[in-house]
Amino acid sequence: MPRIKILPEILSNKIAAGEVVERPASVVKEVLENSLDAGATHILIEIGGGGRTLIRVSDNGRGMDSDDAMLAIERYATSKIQVDSDLFAIGTLGFRGEALPSIASVSRFTLISRPRDQDEGIEIKIAGGKLVNVSTVGAPPGTMVEVRQLFYNTPARRKFLKTINTELGHISDTVVQMAMGWPQVHFELKHNSKTIKLWPTTSDPAQRVAEVLGRNVLPHLFQIQTDQEALAISGWLASSKVSRSFSKGLYLYVNGRFVRDRMVQHAVMEAYRGRLMKGRFPVGALFIKVPADQVDVNVHPTKHEVRFADSRQIHDTLLQVVREALIGNERPAWQHKADQSGKIASGSTPDRVQETPLVFNRNSQRIQAVPSAAKITAPENKYQGQTQEPPGLNFTREDAKQSSLWKEPFFSSLALIGQLKNAYLVCEDKEGLILIDQHAVHERIRFETLRKKGRQQQPASQMLLMPETVELGYAEAAVLEAALSDLNQMGIEIEPFGGNTFVVKAIPVILSRANIHELIKDVADKLVAVGSIDDISHAMDACRIVMACHRSIRAHQALNRQEIMALLNQLDHCEDPAHCPHGRPTWIRIDLATVEKRFGRTGNL
Ligand code: ADP
Ligand code: MG
Repeated sequence: MPRIKILPEILSNKIAAGEVVERPASVVKEVLENSLDAGATHILIEIGGGGRTLIRVSDNGRGMDSDDAMLAIERYATSKIQVDSDLFAIGTLGFRGEALPSIASVSRFTLISRPRDQDEGIEIKIAGGKLVNVSTVGAPPGTMVEVRQLFYNTPARRKFLKTINTELGHISDTVVQMAMGWPQVHFELKHNSKTIKLWPTTSDPAQRVAEVLGRNVLPHLFQIQTDQEALAISGWLASSKVSRSFSKGLYLYVNGRFVRDRMVQHAVMEAYRGRLMKGRFPVGALFIKVPADQVDVNVHPTKHEVRFADSRQIHDTLLQVVREALIGNERPAWQHKADQSGKIASGSTPDRVQETPLVFNRNSQRIQAVPSAAKITAPENKYQGQTQEPPGLNFTREDAKQSSLWKEPFFSSLALIGQLKNAYLVCEDKEGLILIDQHAVHERIRFETLRKKGRQQQPASQMLLMPETVELGYAEAAVLEAALSDLNQMGIEIEPFGGNTFVVKAIPVILSRANIHELIKDVADKLVAVGSIDDISHAMDACRIVMACHRSIRAHQALNRQEIMALLNQLDHCEDPAHCPHGRPTWIRIDLATVEKRFGRTGNL
């Protein structure tokens, strides 16, 4: 008796479902892809109970006759590819032939479909992968897929589902991602019979982009466009005046498919370099078109990642196009001061000393600026050899507490030399030169103040003269609503104001000069990003970081000696004075030996 067996089909479908169907939003994504592949121009998405009880997608696409419909629910049944070579030139969103059988294996599933040229439709009912009933029914042309009680037969999966609002937030994100890429298609999303998103057909992609990104972003959008032989890039990006605290605000499409791609993200961040504050990300939508054989979409079961044949070319083209468009549309902040005459300097920038290359941090998937040895020691760079890794760079909070350095007041004991570019404090101690990033310092102080207030539950908040209303996206509104009482304890007094709108009545005193609209939006974004409902204390810490960032002394602010000393004094009282809340260093040391080496004095003194 052999020990190895071929798995029964129901079981192998369930295993495939494990990869493809992670949560209700994954079902919505797969089914929407099918509707779009079928040429639908009108799609209705009806959700019940955050997708746990009901997901129903109806389209006016080409439909299936009864033979095709029966095949569609078989594993590896697809109309989209036939031979090997098709796999390397995919022009449709789907091609794996496993979505429908996977979904049907973990739910109570109904498929109704009718091609335009037939009078009747077919209805197929499946429960937990077992065919329950097949019949002919009256139906409009097109297809309806209904998924009830997702994961009813896989309790382990069901346990991992989050609250209704969280799941609905994911579904809403999915619909937004699809809608942005397919402006010619009408999308409507309903939850518990209430319409929550509605995008009528438009022939103008800019209109859909604007509708999705919101009224506030619209005036700041500019278009980018380039057409090369095997590469077309178009899109709308927002000027750096509008930015987000995380990278999700940049929507990326490759041949109509919404994807996440580090290379593209990196190119865009490079283009915005020097225009956005650290930790801020651009907003917009980018559409990349390449010949189907120049991109591999069969990289991941959820098809969210792609691999380009020539990613260098795409990176460099994108960087150039976005950078030029930005130069044409706005001038970086430093130029307003440095270049009053109005001409745009290019190439070497006067504030090169601040320039640090952007690299990816694999774990956090965030792009961060970090000092790079290669950049700093490049021969043409006159600031060569300026930074040596100071001990402070690698301190963790634990180190910081234990270190003898922090037992004595350190920062306030430094001799102040001055301020560099109104952004860095230049100090010295007996070992050499010390540069302190004043923005990072202020963020650290503000973060710890907010956290202390939170812990003692004594928020020092200040009523606004005029309460301010803030309108949010559905997902953001849902998480914010769930976190209202926690926010209240942090000193943000905010109440629902109907729909996705909230009214802010008070904010913490230390944020008194913050832009309230941006502040609340960023907090809500953060809550969505960290999945607030599940670990509220973690989520609140994340919000504090966002808040700390908001009313901090920005770079480029002149400070007098008294203000600087007050700042350094407060820094000395912080738990982790060596880092801003995002984890970047607040200070670096350039020791005397380095200075001497740069002057060629090593060993001579
Ligand atoms: P894939 O999309 O990878 O081909 P699916 O399991 O998602 O695999 O769907 C199987 C097949 O069923 C598709 O290839 C398509 O021919 C057909 N199909 C699925 N949904 C629809 C729809 N909404 N309209 C028309 N045909 C559909
Ligand atoms: Mg499919």
